[in-house]
Amino acid sequence: MTQAQLDRTVARRTGESLATIRHLGFHAQAGPPADLEPEDLHLAVDCPFCGGSSALPAGPGRLPALAECDRCDVFFDYAPAEVYAAGPAMPGHAARPRDGVAA
Ligand SMILES: [Zn+2]
Repeated sequence: MTQAQLDRTVARRTGESLATIRHLGFHAQAGPPADLEPEDLHLAVDCPFCGGSSALPAGPGRLPALAECDRCDVFFDYAPAEVYAAGPAMPGHAARPRDGVAA
């Protein structure tokens, strides 16, 4: 997937303009060079409590005001700049390495 394809996909999913998406600077997460299809992508934000990746519901509308962390069972506020495009639900793909976090 190219940067242009990623930008267009994020713009379509969020309802934001392409210019806004480019301004925010979405980028594919570093990691396995998976051959991602647009439908594999989802938007996510990191939970401020546990640091885990929380998927935002995809849809034709705008982003929800609050994100939900299943792990913490809380809703939390987030800034649009914190949103990133994450790949399919592959453990550890979009999230930070778990090994680096003291349990
Ligand atoms: Zn959490």
